[in-house]
Amino acid sequence: MKFYDAHNHLQDERFAGHQSELLTACEKSGIARMVVNGACEADWPQVLQLAREHKMVLPSFGYHPWYLPERTPDWLANLNRFLDEVPSAIGEIGLDRWKPDLPYTGQEEVFLAQLQIAAERNLPVSIHCLQAWGRVLELLQSHPRPPRGFVLHSFGGPAEMIPAFAKLGAHFSFPGYFLHGRKLKQRETFKQVPPERLLIETDAPDQHLPADINRFPLVGSDGKPLNHPANLVAVYAGLAEFLGEKTESLAARVETNFQKVFGGL
Ligand SMILES: [Zn+2]
Repeated sequence: MKFYDAHNHLQDERFAGHQSELLTACEKSGIARMVVNGACEADWPQVLQLAREHKMVLPSFGYHPWYLPERTPDWLANLNRFLDEVPSAIGEIGLDRWKPDLPYTGQEEVFLAQLQIAAERNLPVSIHCLQAWGRVLELLQSHPRPPRGFVLHSFGGPAEMIPAFAKLGAHFSFPGYFLHGRKLKQRETFKQVPPERLLIETDAPDQHLPADINRFPLVGSDGKPLNHPANLVAVYAGLAEFLGEKTESLAARVETNFQKVFGGL
């Protein structure tokens, strides 16, 4: 069985330079590829370096809404430069009305500028959305999109919106965090996701799994728990059980879906 992580942040400084060890564990676990998402200009170089050193890493470059205040006047030219360096995806980009004190002003402009590049280059784009689902849908409906599709990472929107997003080319990515008992309602929405549009992710080092299925407990230098990217296998197993499907058949399906969106990169 091969496993594909549609979204993580392997470059995160909380992993404190242990990326090679983490990747060795991932390889032993059967993980074939992982989309490593940059979130701001400061971490794009690390994502690029990881991609050059490890073929498991599929690099993705983008400006995450949380880091927009840090962007330089040259951010867009910089982004294009990184995209020219290696075959890569775009992300993590998005809209966020949830994070306290985060200005919303400017978010749509930066989101749309990156969506435009994704459409022009036909690159898959990973979208973060918190409390802005209606607006993300409107913007996607009214602007060019990449023909190969896009990923709604950690899809936390309502089930009723799934058909409208799917019509535009959405893929819906399931994180291990939704295996917590309290996330049952969100887990249920994934029963409405079209089978050919499902992806799976860890979002490592974030989105911890429930303790009883966390196969790779990991703690950062500050004592806080970190999600190990090799936990992807447990996310597959947890979702397969929830959907009443064999992990093998789920894995085969997700492999096809992943290749359709990210194939060739
Ligand atoms: Zn993320």
